[in-house]
Order: sequence, then C-alpha cells, then structure tokens
Amino acid sequence: MTGGVVSVWECRFGEMGLWIPAFAGMTERREVTMRIGSGYDVHRLIPGRKLVLGGVTIPFEKGLLGHSDADVLVHALCDALLGAAGLGDIGLHFPDTSPEFKDIYSIRLLEMTYHQLRDKGFSIVNADATIFAESPKLSPYREKMRETLARAIETDPDRINIKATTTEGLGMIGKGEGIGAMAVVLIF
Ligand SMILES: [Zn+2]
Repeated sequence: MTGGVVSVWECRFGEMGLWIPAFAGMTERREVTMRIGSGYDVHRLIPGRKLVLGGVTIPFEKGLLGHSDADVLVHALCDALLGAAGLGDIGLHFPDTSPEFKDIYSIRLLEMTYHQLRDKGFSIVNADATIFAESPKLSPYREKMRETLARAIETDPDRINIKATTTEGLGMIGKGEGIGAMAVVLIF
C-alpha cells in the first residue's frame, strides 16, 4: 500500500468517501473513493504443458492451455484490477492474437496491469481469490503464490488471500478437464 493509514470514514449524502493522509510524513489529506473489481477465468488442462498458477510452477501431469502460460489465477486477478480501475479487460490489453504475449509468464502481464493502475494513482487495498481445481492439491504452494503475486503488484503478501476448492466432481473442472479462478480486488 503506497498510501497512508486510513484515518477517518465519512459518509455524506449517501456517498461514501474516505480520507487518508496522502503519504507517510505528509499532513495533507485527500478524499479518495474505494473501487471494487472482479475477475473470472477458466483454461483447459492438457498433457504436455507446464502448470503455472499464481506465478508458481506446480508439478502435475497436465498444464493449462493458452496463448500465454494460461495462469488462470493471474488472469482473474488482472481482470479484477482492470475492472476496479475501469480499464476494460485482459483481452483488450494483452490480446491472445499478439505474438508479443505468446507463452509469456503471466506475472509479467500482472506487472504491466499494476503499472497502469499505479500510473493512474490507484493503490491496492487487498485481493481475494479462489482457484477451482479437482487436482493437484494446491495448499503447499499457496504461500509462494501470495509472495509472487504480492511482489508483482508491489504490496504485502498479507493483502492477498488465495483459496482453493474443488467442484465436488461436477462439471468440466470436476472431471479434471480444466481449472478456473475468480478474484475480487479493492483499490483506491
Ligand atoms: Zn486466461
């Protein structure tokens, strides 16, 4: 978080404003608006591909198919950030027809997404994400994912939460044909 500590909440005429000291050491305050964004993504699992989730390579017999490394968690997070900032979606900024993004490590896309938000003066409050996967077991990689994502968006790992769940064997994710992810972020 590049802004200061939240100090006072104000509600005026039904519109919620938030006053914060602009940066540590500054006495000036500015009014900011909290903005929320959501993202969702699914990719197909196929043999012969590396499985990358949250920027972490996970040993598994299959990997996600896509133009990039197909990191669903990172893509959902990018969409949530872009959505919160009113900047469209990941396909608009990183089209899957562009050779520039072929097989790209999606953390690079997340860094570029974050830089767009930072350039517009936005700061990240927190992100919460859920991965939908029947297998492999993801809990051993959760902390490494948090650290990797946090580094890409210049925030603390404790501002990023990652959950993983199955779909109880239902649907294409339950049959192990794909992995999905959704993410919600709050920015100001
Ligand atoms: Zn994707």
